[in-house]
Amino acid sequence: MTETTTTLMAYDEALVRFEPVLGIETHVELGTASKMFCGCPTVFGGAPNTQVCPVCLGLPGALPVANAQAIESTIRIGLALNCSIAEWCRFARKNYFYPDMPKNFQISQYDEPLCFDGYLDVEVDGKVHRVGIERVHLEEDTGKSTHMGGATGRIHGADYSIVDYNRAGIPLVEIVTKPIEGTDSLAPEVAKAYATELRELMRALGVSDVRMEEGSMRCDVNVSLMPRGSSEWGTRTETKNVNSLRSVERSVRHEIERQAAVLAAGGRIVQETRHFHEDTGATTSGRSKEEAQDYRYFPEPDLVPIAPARSFVEELKATLPELPSVKRARLMAEWSVSALDMEAMYNADAVDLVEATVAAGAPAADARKWWMGELARRANESGTALAELAITPAQVARVTELVASGALNDKLARQVFEGVLAGEGSPDEVVAARGLQIVNDEGELSAIIDQVIADNADAADKVRNGKVAAVGALVGGVMKASRGKADAGRARELLLEKLGVTG
Ligand SMILES: [Zn+2]
Repeated sequence: MTETTTTLMAYDEALVRFEPVLGIETHVELGTASKMFCGCPTVFGGAPNTQVCPVCLGLPGALPVANAQAIESTIRIGLALNCSIAEWCRFARKNYFYPDMPKNFQISQYDEPLCFDGYLDVEVDGKVHRVGIERVHLEEDTGKSTHMGGATGRIHGADYSIVDYNRAGIPLVEIVTKPIEGTDSLAPEVAKAYATELRELMRALGVSDVRMEEGSMRCDVNVSLMPRGSSEWGTRTETKNVNSLRSVERSVRHEIERQAAVLAAGGRIVQETRHFHEDTGATTSGRSKEEAQDYRYFPEPDLVPIAPARSFVEELKATLPELPSVKRARLMAEWSVSALDMEAMYNADAVDLVEATVAAGAPAADARKWWMGELARRANESGTALAELAITPAQVARVTELVASGALNDKLARQVFEGVLAGEGSPDEVVAARGLQIVNDEGELSAIIDQVIADNADAADKVRNGKVAAVGALVGGVMKASRGKADAGRARELLLEKLGVTG
């Protein structure tokens, strides 16, 4: 049931008529060395079906044993999300058939999650939105199906499908928000900010590599609309497995525009899962959404309950790292930057890079200037992430040092960055190879100035006759003749001196 056309309502109009309510379920693959209920390795990218055993293949008689590291990581995530930690809880069987799930049930948690009732504060345009966390629970990932022979890569139209069970049984944490209300027109941005903050939190905790493009963090985004003035929530759709931060934002925007058009035309929203398409920014219908009772949950009889001792939970709480929001507040003070500047750095994924550059000896203002200016521009041009540019924070720090010492000006520094990014070596090697030092030699500078005065007799006369402003053209000439390597301030001084103007 593929839709052939989708009618959208302009975003602004949709927001005048409806109020969006969001909900986000995020799956995070934990970075444990072994799987959730067996000892199989979890390394990404192995040859298909080489990281499997009777337990994760669901062979009869195989018994699961819970991974203690995964439970500890989940509790740490729950604590970082301000959740309560269950004193006693169980795993549950979620029963459904899917070819990439060999047991025909998934071991998950149902009404007894390990962590519950927390929150995460996220910031958009300098304003804090508190996103409630309903639950954080632990489950196992499924295998991966690949549908062969069709045009779309989906099962419809495929000739056959193949299954890789390497991923089956990898520990998966599911983080479910409470309904997110009151975001209004900022709903797409709040959704993105939440996913971003959650990713940063996972990184800070060191529990997952959170690579969205590899699927180790993926978001299911629920959107519903409620007519203005109503207090009754609309029917929601769930856009599955959105796998980039930008796509989280785009999928929310698209669903608001699509649902608003359906509702305004007197239609009704079908409760269903939807797929997000990166190329068009649109969602299309998936399958109708199951209700919890369809899964026939019951407590998993092969596993003992989890009952983390309070002393253990307190111990984990005491060893949580500095959380991203706390760290940003600290850096804002240390670097003397505004909340909006910090948000810009954060959105550009530049905070860690600036921090490392400062640690390598650069003043914070300079580190921020280069990463957010010249380097961000180059990353943008080449379509790479800032962190993936072929330059290290230490190299950026070295360039700021060369500028501070007077050996480079900003223009030359940009050429040094260009050389380093092109693989020409370290900043010092690029300076040497390209001959980029500022002309500090007074004799050399003096010779250039004499030549420029001779070549621009008119301008020189004007300056001699008191039109000091005309010296600008001569300074420009010196910079040009030195190919940008002269110190413009010193050149101006010498020019005025030579033309008999003081001050
Ligand atoms: Zn296994």
